Amino acid sequence: MDFVQISEEQRVLLDSVDKLIENRIKPLWKDYNNTPIPKSVAHEILGELSQLGFIGGSAPEDVGGFGLSQTMMGLLYERLAKAFPGLAGLTFITSSSATRIAVDGTDVHRDAYLEKLMSGQMIACAAITEPNVGSSPANIQTTAKRHDDGGWVINGEKSWISNGDISDICTAIVRTGEGKGGLSRFIVERTDGYTTQDIPKMAMNEWPTSNVHFNQVYVPAWRQIGDEGAGLSSTLIAFQTARCYVATLSLGIAQAALECAIEYAKEREQWGKRIGQHQMIQEMLADMATMVDAARLLTFRGFYLVDQGVRCDVQTSMAKAYATEMAVKVASMAVQIHGAYGISKEYPVERYFREARILPIPDGTTQIQKLIIGRGLTGLPAF
Ligand SMILES: Cc1cc2nc3c(=O)[nH]c(=O)nc-3n(C[C@H](O)[C@H](O)[C@H](O)COP(=O)(O)OP(=O)(O)OC[C@H]3O[C@@H](n4cnc5c(N)ncnc54)[C@H](O)[C@@H]3O)c2cc1C
Repeated sequence: MDFVQISEEQRVLLDSVDKLIENRIKPLWKDYNNTPIPKSVAHEILGELSQLGFIGGSAPEDVGGFGLSQTMMGLLYERLAKAFPGLAGLTFITSSSATRIAVDGTDVHRDAYLEKLMSGQMIACAAITEPNVGSSPANIQTTAKRHDDGGWVINGEKSWISNGDISDICTAIVRTGEGKGGLSRFIVERTDGYTTQDIPKMAMNEWPTSNVHFNQVYVPAWRQIGDEGAGLSSTLIAFQTARCYVATLSLGIAQAALECAIEYAKEREQWGKRIGQHQMIQEMLADMATMVDAARLLTFRGFYLVDQGVRCDVQTSMAKAYATEMAVKVASMAVQIHGAYGISKEYPVERYFREARILPIPDGTTQIQKLIIGRGLTGLPAF
């Protein structure tokens, strides 16, 4: 049951999403079990998801979006994440790039990219992290130097970039000047010459993370997005909303793990009764369900506040930190309820456990979220 109020039109949209998930997405989750989704398949499925608002759905209708609230987008993504979290991540990254271009881009940017992104023809990535720059993006080392003709030449290496290997465009945050105010954003096309290399990870390889190399990559002046020097501030604003989406991925995984655990507890018998009749199993299920609901409330409060247009770093950091750590605990408890079968490949909970473990890291680790919350509470920055 959705606890946010939705209109009849939105109900119809959610029903269509549920149908696509049942018929199309769930089989894909089985087909691509920790193996990369080929680029051609990714385009195909993004095309189908885009028709239901998954890509740039919150962008205004006059630029090709659906004009959906972030809360509504959250409901869409929770459904997708429960069925196939890696695909939800892959889709979200392209969607957030489209939204940034819709909001911060010029008409020229919108004309060049929005339709292609919002139809799944183009896959995007966003590159901030570098081999020596993770939690402190102010120290970015990749540079863009002015070319004689007014364009820019980018040099450097980005790492852990979601969708990198299958991307057609990359929004890169690079250094154009000194200090925190010396970072700017550029839209770089694959055909400009950036190269990528996949980084295999413990789970969710369906959703690639890659090194992205810029070696004398020339970018024309019109591809700068946002003001020169505004790269960091605009990135931090985008993170505020992105944290809710990462929380949504964790929510989907945790809900799926919880449902598996309930089913198993109702079937498996030990000591002459179903294990769901043992009080300690019920205690675990009760704790799991309560944690999932608490994370859902925090996440949708975050979406609601973003929809109100207020600055809400503290609340979205709470959602991201709590939901991602919650999913690790809930998936682990789901494994425990399955006993030895929990770690076998026969049941999906071992996959949920590995997938859940990924998400306390991207878009600001749990520790960084706590520092944001602590700064909000005290007014004292500790980082
Ligand atoms: C699945 C996945 C997808 C990703 N996608 C992208 C992407 O699309 N684009 C992109 O740019 N990046 C992406 N990243 C990178 C991600 O944003 C970084 O991994 C993250 O910001 C942390 O940086 P780091 O890994 O270098 O860890 P580090 O910053 O080196 O941190 C290491 C440890 O130190 C802790 N730490 C750091 N600073 C402090 C502090 N001040 N106080 C206390 N503890 C601290 C951290 O919490 C962590 O536990 C992705 C990462 C993953 C895992």
